Amino acid sequence: MIICRFTDPETQRPAFGVVEHEQVFRLEGDLSAGNLSLERSAPSGKLSDAHLLPPVAPSKIVCVGRNYREHAAELGNPLPEEPLLFLKAPSSIIGDGDLIELPQFSRRVEHEGELAVVIGRRCRSIPIVEDPLAYVLGYTCLNDVTARDLQRKDVQFTRGKSFDTFCPVGPYIVTGLDPADLKVETHVNGQVRQSGRTSAMAFPVQHLLRYISHVMTLEPGDLIATGTPAGVGPLLDGDVCEVEVEGVGTLRNRVRAARA
Ligand code: ZN
Repeated sequence: MIICRFTDPETQRPAFGVVEHEQVFRLEGDLSAGNLSLERSAPSGKLSDAHLLPPVAPSKIVCVGRNYREHAAELGNPLPEEPLLFLKAPSSIIGDGDLIELPQFSRRVEHEGELAVVIGRRCRSIPIVEDPLAYVLGYTCLNDVTARDLQRKDVQFTRGKSFDTFCPVGPYIVTGLDPADLKVETHVNGQVRQSGRTSAMAFPVQHLLRYISHVMTLEPGDLIATGTPAGVGPLLDGDVCEVEVEGVGTLRNRVRAARA
């Protein structure tokens, strides 16, 4: 199932929908409120006419640093012994087709293409007998845009990771996927910059979910960015950056320098 979030033409409010045969079928309820129904109603319109929004409005974005060996190495870091967690501000989210704005404070903004997990049900301290994937609604593409110079300068990650527009997500949430071995690629202006497979993660999705759930309650709609493969590099004014996850889709954003 392919789930989108769009502006309902009747109410002019955000709503969830299912994409099928180039049509959008509205879903009742709200993911973040924990009452999203996956029963589809009558079609509410053509996909090409829909005003699509970022597919989630999470209460938090939990990111995992250095979850691929080659990426840890390219930044001169060892693999961590347990998942390295940091948060990205939810206000940094933009959708497919929206502009990534380069802040004036940074001389080095980089792409990080990632598989993102969308939480479907609240969970806390997932017990060992339970499958963490049972709490997942689906998967989407995420670009963990990073001001690398500020991340290094600040030591901790908040500023470098959380400028407005630094979290492109989408275009859709795809359900029913096995996240164990998906290709994750990032292209800039059509050239491959990053290419990896989720099977190369130091800590796979199940491990991450269980681990994070022992730290904080995960709410429906929350996003887990699972780390980036090697090949991170700069984004410049006018670039088009695409994050493609096998079976999930392609997230495309143009880059623009901040206006003075
Ligand atoms: Zn990242």
